This record gives sequence, C-alpha cells and structure tokens, in this order.
Amino acid sequence: IRMIKILANDGISPDGQTLLEEAGYEVDTTRIPQADLPGVIGQYDVLIVRSATKVTKEVIDAGTNLKIIARGGVGLDNIDTDYARSKGITVFNTPAASSQAVAELAFAHMFSLARFLHGSNRAMPVSGGTEYDKLKKKFSDGIQLRGRTLGIIGFGRIGQEAARIGIGLGMNVLAVDPMIDEARIDIKPYNSEYITMAVSVPTVEMDELFAKSDFITLHVPFSGGTPIIGKAQFDKMKKGVCLINTSRGGTVDEEALLEAMASGKVAGAGLDVFDFEPTPRPEILSHPNISLTPHIGASTLEAQANIGLELADRILAFFGD
Ligand code: NAD
Repeated sequence: IRMIKILANDGISPDGQTLLEEAGYEVDTTRIPQADLPGVIGQYDVLIVRSATKVTKEVIDAGTNLKIIARGGVGLDNIDTDYARSKGITVFNTPAASSQAVAELAFAHMFSLARFLHGSNRAMPVSGGTEYDKLKKKFSDGIQLRGRTLGIIGFGRIGQEAARIGIGLGMNVLAVDPMIDEARIDIKPYNSEYITMAVSVPTVEMDELFAKSDFITLHVPFSGGTPIIGKAQFDKMKKGVCLINTSRGGTVDEEALLEAMASGKVAGAGLDVFDFEPTPRPEILSHPNISLTPHIGASTLEAQANIGLELADRILAFFGD
C-alpha cells in the first residue's frame, strides 16, 4: 500500500501532526512557495492550508493524487472550493476548533461591561489621593451576572458553548435560532468523570429575547444584507441592556448602536468585530462604554492546537483509520 502523504503548507500544530504520524502518514511541513506548488503537489494525497496558501485551479489541476484539501480555521475563501469538489476532492475546514475560545471572549466582554474593566483600565493611571477615590466611586455600581437574563442570537456551535457558560454562572439563558427548536446541552464540570448535567434549552421568538434580556450576544453567520440588529430591534430591548458582538461586522448596525447608547437604551457594548476592519469608526474606538478587542475571538493557544487535532481527526476518518 502506498503511504498517505500530506503537505501542511501553512503548518499544523504538533499535536495534530503527531496524531497523523502515529497512524503512519507522512506529514511534510516544508513551506512550498506558491509558484512552486503546482510542480510538487502531484505527489500528495492531502493538502492542508491556513489562509496564506492559495489553492487555485492550477494547483488543483496539478494535484492529480489529491483526495482532500483541508483548511485549518474558519473560511474557505483561499480555496477554489467549487472547482476542487467538481474534481471529486473533499474540501473542509475546522469550524468547531475555536467555538470555546469565541464563547469565552463573549463572556470576557460581559464581565468587562458588568464591572467596567475597560473603563477602569483606561482611567487607572492616576496620581492617587482624591483622584483614586473618584475612580472608586465611578466604578462602584457594577452588577453581577448571576440572575441576569442572557439572550443568545444564533444557537449553533458558539451559541451553545455560550449557553453552557451562562448556565454555569447562574444566568437565565434564552436563545433564538430559526433552525433549532430545542437544544440539549451536556454540561460537564471540567475533567469530572462523574458529573454530567443534561440541560434542554428551548429557543424563543426574537421579540421575547429583546424584551427580557439584560445581555444579548450574537453568534450568527453573516453574508451581507440588512443587519440583524438595527434601530427597530434596539427599540424593542430593555433599557440598560448590554450587547456583545463576536460574530461578524455588519450583523449590528453600528450607527444605530451609537444612537441607542446615546439615548441610554444600551448601557454597554462589547465588540470583537466591526463594520470597518482594520479601521473601525473612531466614535466606536473612543466610546467610554464599549469594550473592544481586535477580532481575536478564535485566537487562543487551545483553539490553535484544536485546529490541528480536528484536521487530523477528519483526515483519519476519511481514510478509515
Ligand atoms: P454555526 O453555524 O454553528 O451556528 C450559527 C447558528 O446561527 C445556526 O444554528 C443558524 O441557524 C443560526 N442563525 C442563522 N441566522 C440567524 C438569525 N438571523 N437569527 C438567529 N439565528 C440565526 O456557527 P458558529 O460556529 O457558532 O459561528 C457563529 C459565528 O461566529 C460565525 O458568523 C462566525 O463567522 C463567527 N466567528 C467569529 C470568530 C471571531 O474571531 N470573532 C471566530 C469564529 C467564528
């Protein structure tokens, strides 16, 4: 039998590489320059890329032995997916690897908004004395998350991870998702062999979520078009709501958000994604009640390692190992 040869042209995490090598596959992590790729790709069964390598028609045509093209991470825009599939090549990415990372970032923003971490971090370089006391007063009316209602819009991989965390914190979790009526979620205390709690989370109508939620977090895909949250939606929300967006720029109408914050309807926002990346609106960047991160939802060490493991698992499954 011919050994299965894998080219991981943009690298693969050591865990994932080990898993494949232990199964007897050859994993080549030499980075072949784009122009030389057609010349060598013919010897490989699997091509693994991140975002750097472009898998063009030319590369696909030259890859006469290719069975799989795998993209580590989310998105497939650097791969001519339709053309590859038309040639019978399996194409996939690793959308689950970063779900926990994104869900945790949403809560990092929630905690920041609940206790003004973003504001106090900006304001803390003070000279002490009365200035310090002023700050203390300014940031003293924070709230606890326990007992608050969390509205999750989009109840897929990330939304369901967010529900697990919210339930663990003692929040009342509501979810909206046109594709899901009720999701059964297993909650396992970390590393516990003994305890698993099965929780059923039913989804509700959007208006009910708007009317009841103290925190609203978005975990929906977005491919352009009308924002999911605009003026009409803000009008239906509770006064003092906090909004978290770690999904995609465009899902929230940023101008409507700024208006809703000016009127006091929205007390705070946590944003990882923006209408304009990498140059978000200055009014967003300088807003005292917005907690900001530069699109780092998926960027944890664990998520990076998970990408390699998810790639390895799927490749092994494809070849029946
Ligand atoms: P998923 O496909 O598992 O889940 C998305 C869910 O949203 C689906 O169940 C779908 O039915 C639902 N949905 C679609 N339109 C909806 C609507 N209008 N209202 C309510 N629900 C709707 O996706 P996922 O893995 O959970 O990812 C969710 C989003 O997170 C994606 O848009 C992705 O781009 C984004 N994301 C961001 C980062 C980051 O770095 N910030 C990283 C990874 C993913």
